[in-house]
Amino acid sequence: MPADIAKYYEILEELSSKNVDLVAVSKVRTVEDILALYNEGQRDFGENYVQELDEKQQLLPHDIRWHFIGHLQTNKVKYIAPYAYLVHGVDTLKLLKEISKQAAKNKRSIKCLLQIHVAQEQSKFGLNEEELDEIIDELKSNPLNFKNILVCGLMGMATNTGDTDQVRKEFRYLKHLYDQYKHIDTQCCHFSVLSMGMSDDYRLAVEEGSTMVRIGSLLFGRRI
Ligand SMILES: *Cc1c(COP(=O)(O)O)cnc(C)c1O
Repeated sequence: MPADIAKYYEILEELSSKNVDLVAVSKVRTVEDILALYNEGQRDFGENYVQELDEKQQLLPHDIRWHFIGHLQTNKVKYIAPYAYLVHGVDTLKLLKEISKQAAKNKRSIKCLLQIHVAQEQSKFGLNEEELDEIIDELKSNPLNFKNILVCGLMGMATNTGDTDQVRKEFRYLKHLYDQYKHIDTQCCHFSVLSMGMSDDYRLAVEEGSTMVRIGSLLFGRRI
């Protein structure tokens, strides 16, 4: 299915009135579908798989800001380090260090979000409150290990359920954590992004304080 341009403008208008950024999630979509949105002015696109992203990045305009929103393995950081704009799903110190190292090799800096586990599903990745605390402490006490990254906020995925009270509770908890750390202002850690909300729950996420939503199906149709 081609990109739904009318829907794109509808969502964009809704979000811009609330100062929320839109990442168009383009996993499994074709280069042509991505270009259709690019030609309307969209620059932020999100991908989940390193190889797929790498192939698309080579074929598409270089002013696209590529968001890596999947689970990134340490040994694959090197492939996306030359161009990744924002890595959403970081949940270990080891991964943060590797991103900084690979960014340095490319003489650039890469922005990262720490992923928090809020959903009830076992399968979703992410940190709990205690682990988040440990990582933030490490960023504060050993900034030299993280010279080429900027940790600029948190990311989370709510439970995949029709129970809106549950979803709202999870987003509210993410916002609460975000607020706890947003005063930190060091070289490698300064919060300005709270990435939460997807096609089915972005309105709830925005109501609860999201600054960045990641939307795929609403723009490009259901994935098969
Ligand atoms: C696929 C994906 C999305 C987009 O999901 P839709 O329901 O298609 O909007 C958002 N975030 C992450 C992390 C994803 O993997």
